[in-house]
Amino acid sequence: MLIVGVGGLGAAAALELARQGALRIGLVDGDRVEASNLHRQLLHGPADLGRPKVEVAAEKLRKLRPSLEIETHAARLTAGDVGARIAAYGFVIDATDHAPTKFLLNDACVRAGKPFVYAGVVGLRGQLLTVLPRESACLRCLFPEAPAEDETASCQDAGILGPLVGLVGALEAREAVKCLTGAGTPASDRLLTIDAASLRIREVPLRRSLACPLCGDGFETPPPHCSADTASRHPEETVV
Ligand SMILES: [Zn+2]
Repeated sequence: MLIVGVGGLGAAAALELARQGALRIGLVDGDRVEASNLHRQLLHGPADLGRPKVEVAAEKLRKLRPSLEIETHAARLTAGDVGARIAAYGFVIDATDHAPTKFLLNDACVRAGKPFVYAGVVGLRGQLLTVLPRESACLRCLFPEAPAEDETASCQDAGILGPLVGLVGALEAREAVKCLTGAGTPASDRLLTIDAASLRIREVPLRRSLACPLCGDGFETPPPHCSADTASRHPEETVV
């Protein structure tokens, strides 16, 4: 599994994968540990300030599971290297807080036929969607044009709730395990929205758009590496 972003979401996902017996993970993040976001980053502490996040995370994960194989990439993904970065992994976890990078990952994963999970947390709300390329809705089925950088709320502007980030990151790890083992039903074709204020989780049903500029009709991509339970692909909107 490749985890892109080793902040709050990525640290929670990595810890879950390590605990659940993952053999090999990759970590991508070009940032260094900062004091302003320690409250939501389970793998980083005050003694780590200024160090590359991927180095700190790998060090702590190795203490937790010495047999875990970890590859680190201390750089932000770019359009030029995203294809090579994801190529060696069976599943990709989007744990970034940067909308353009989410769409970069979406596009590269769909083109490569690589299943991945998108997630985002701002304020008291979180979202999660697993994308099975050419089988289920991708981010561009929802938003054909990626939002501009200044159109999305940032963690600095809206704040962020540490426990919610931990929950969503752990759910992302679970999606990876489900997809790679075939056990359970991926959260594909349904956008999970989590409202921490009311503690309600809603599912918004989605479908792959035939007009999607990335995965719509006429755009050929290889099949995904894991299959979903098609019987539960289009659930009614529910509150659970
Ligand atoms: Zn699409």
